[in-house]
This record gives sequence, C-alpha cells and structure tokens, in this order.
Amino acid sequence: MPGKQPPKGSYIIDAGWILAHGDSGSYLVSGGSIRVKDDRIVEVTTEPLEGDGPRLSLPDQLLMPGLISGHTHVASATPTRGLIEGGRSYSRPIKLMDQLSDQELDDLTAFNLAEVLKAGCTTQVEMSLSLRQAEAYVRVAGAWGARGYPGGMIPGTSRLDSIWFRDDDQALFDSVPGTLEEIAANLEFGKKYLNAHEGRIMPMMAPHATDTHTDETMSAIVEAADELGTGIHIHLSQRESETAAVRRLHDGMSPAQWLEKLGAFKGPFFGAHMMALDWDTDPEILKRNAAVYAHCPSAGGAGGATQPYPEALAAGIATNIAIDTHSNDLIENIKLAVIAGKTRAKLVDAPLPTIWAAVDGATVVAADGLRRPDLGRIAVGAKADFISLDLSDWLVGSGALPPEPLNNLLYANGSIVRHVAVDGRFLVFDGDLTVAKEDDVLARGAVVHKKLWKQLSDEGWFTPTPR
Ligand SMILES: [Zn+2]
Repeated sequence: MPGKQPPKGSYIIDAGWILAHGDSGSYLVSGGSIRVKDDRIVEVTTEPLEGDGPRLSLPDQLLMPGLISGHTHVASATPTRGLIEGGRSYSRPIKLMDQLSDQELDDLTAFNLAEVLKAGCTTQVEMSLSLRQAEAYVRVAGAWGARGYPGGMIPGTSRLDSIWFRDDDQALFDSVPGTLEEIAANLEFGKKYLNAHEGRIMPMMAPHATDTHTDETMSAIVEAADELGTGIHIHLSQRESETAAVRRLHDGMSPAQWLEKLGAFKGPFFGAHMMALDWDTDPEILKRNAAVYAHCPSAGGAGGATQPYPEALAAGIATNIAIDTHSNDLIENIKLAVIAGKTRAKLVDAPLPTIWAAVDGATVVAADGLRRPDLGRIAVGAKADFISLDLSDWLVGSGALPPEPLNNLLYANGSIVRHVAVDGRFLVFDGDLTVAKEDDVLARGAVVHKKLWKQLSDEGWFTPTPR
C-alpha cells in the first residue's frame, strides 16, 4: 500500500510497469523496482528489490522519467486560457501582466507551475515573457524544487509588438539599443542564478525569434549564451513572415542558416514551432548541431493549427513535445502530438507518429538536447526525477494494470499523475502538491485572474464574443 507520507533519502519503489532506459533505448519492465539514494537512481531491477527500508508500492502504476518541456511560458498560460480559442489575439492579456506586482506575478507563476508539476513535467525550458516573470519563475520553481532552464524573452512583451509587427524594418534597426540593454540584463540574471538551488536552475538565453533581431543583437545573444554555457531557447521559423523577413534581411538565408552563420548552435539549442522551416536546407543544420525541435501541440490554444511533427520525425530531427502555453498538461500534449500528428501524417504522406516516439521526445530526447545524460531516463546513475501514473482507473485503463501501458496514455491527461519527484524529493504525492497548500495556490491565482478579466472587461475586450 502507498504510504501516507512521501519517502525520502534512501527508498525503494516497486511499480507495475517501469519505463527504463538502456543502451538500446527505452524499454518496459514488468514488476520491477528502483532504488533511490538522495538525488539519484542507484538501482533498477526486473524483480522486486529485497530490503526493509522505506518503500512505495505502486502495483497499478507506470513509473517513468519526469517529463521535460522544451518550451514553456509558465506564468502566462492561464491569463490567456479560455479567452483566445475563438480567434482573439493573446496580445492584450499578456501585456496586462506587465502591470502586475511582483507578488501577483509570483501568484500567477505558482498557479501555473502547480499545474505543470501536477501533470508530470519536472523540467521546464522556460522562456518567461519578461525578465520580471523570469525572476518570479526562479522564486517559485527554486523554492519548490522544480528543475528549470529559465530566461526572459528578448525582446520582452513590453517592447515586442512594435518590433515584431513592424511595417518597416527601420523599427527593427531602431530597437537595437533597447534590445542590447535587455540582453545585458538577461545575462546578469543568468550569471546570478546559474546553478542556483542545488543546480536545478540553469538559465539560458531566450531570444524571441529570428525576425525580431539583427546581426548585432543576435551576435550579442550568442556571446551571452557562450558565456553562460547553457545554450539558446528561441521560437524558430514560427511562421512564414519570420522566414521571409530573415531572407530579406540576410542575403536570402533561412533563419536556421542565419543562426548557424552567427554560431548560435554551439551549446544546447531548443527551437519552438518551426512551422515555416525550409525543409530542403534546415533539417541537416539542426541535426548536425544536435538542436531540438520543441513541438507544441497546444500552441495557439486548444485546437490551434497542426504543426510539422510528422515531417520533423521523418527528417530525423530530435523532437521534443512541449507545453508552450495555454495548456500546462504535458501528458495531454503528448497525446495530442500523436493524435494530431497521425492526422497530419496522412495528409503529408509521412510515417505515423507513435506514442513511443512522443514519450521519448518528452524525456530522453530533450535531456540529450540539454546535454544532460543524467536526466530524462530511469537508469542507474540518473537523477531521481520521475513520475508515476495510474493506468488502471476509469476512462484511461481497464480496472487492472494494462498489458501495453504506453498505449493507455492516448486516453489520458495529467490527472492520472499520482507522484512527481525531482532530485528524489516528492513535489507531488498521491496527486497533491507537497510544496505548497493547493487551496492557497488556487485562491491566490484566482484573484489575479479576476483582476485581469475585470480590466479586459472594462476595456470592452470581451465584446463582441466570438462564437
Ligand atoms: Zn512560445
């Protein structure tokens, strides 16, 4: 029986299924155990381990690596959720977040990070929409013990729209001094928090996209990323107008070609969306640089456009499944990646995506992209970042441990996650946060959401209602 208190220090977990990792990749173990010592997995066995110490028994559950989202904007998911699905822009609600106090940003971050963790995502490659939001992320994720690679988006939301949606490239050239200031401030943030919270916080440089930077500012990003050593996190070729702008400004190069010329691929590289990739030139660039495509099925909100996930898999690009924003449920997004990916694959005549590739994408592929062979896998010596999922329950399972458990994820969402640990410490136990009082997190988040809705309502933003 599961204990009432989370085990700590040195303990054993027995699980109905374990998704383990070895030299030939991921594989399922039936009825085995893992032994955790402090922050590490020290044993993985195919039979139940003997011993008297603290023990967690999960006979109806799948134990698997903690999920890694290669692209998040943690604080901004709920301020836009439920508002943008009818076709409105997320721009105004996101901008209103700039007016919130630090405490309100912390409350929003806590609300969203609670969801992210409860749905099994232990590591966030986090592009906060402003440096203040990145600071809030570090305060909350650091205190709670989540693992994150945060950076403030550059340019941040307060300056972004006039640069991104410019009519004339002069607006981009005029933005250079302001953007260089943001880069310097983000580098300071990065140096301040590098390796903070026992090494769980590893800031990255997070340029918004290639069409909101010049040679000078992107080179400054590359230099800052080289100094931090943690790499670059960007929206890459996220729409046709981005690719067209880069070709116009940089001798016909695609965004990936331009970034390679500037030396942007020396460290870890996570690029989100890639809707307008040049499929003739860019896959080879991404592959030779071990860059990761962060595929976000909920980008644009639930039911947003499908994205080139099957094409990326077929091209052999390292592909992660990520949250982006609006949904904080990475289990749901893994499911959506496969389902929407199968539909798209039939249209573009590509191989059908599998649940195995999606699960690997959200675990070991992302870990390798971060150059972290100690993350994203259940293996001896790996960090004890793991989650467990109840696959026997109503709607997801069949009342008993299923024979092919990954397939049941196609009927699941984050509510089936029971336990979540980072560095061997349980942040979620039996479905509940251990690191904060859930009722408080929910109530404080609600206050901020109501404040944002009130302001939008006062501005007439809800009228007319799209339907
Ligand atoms: Zn994004």
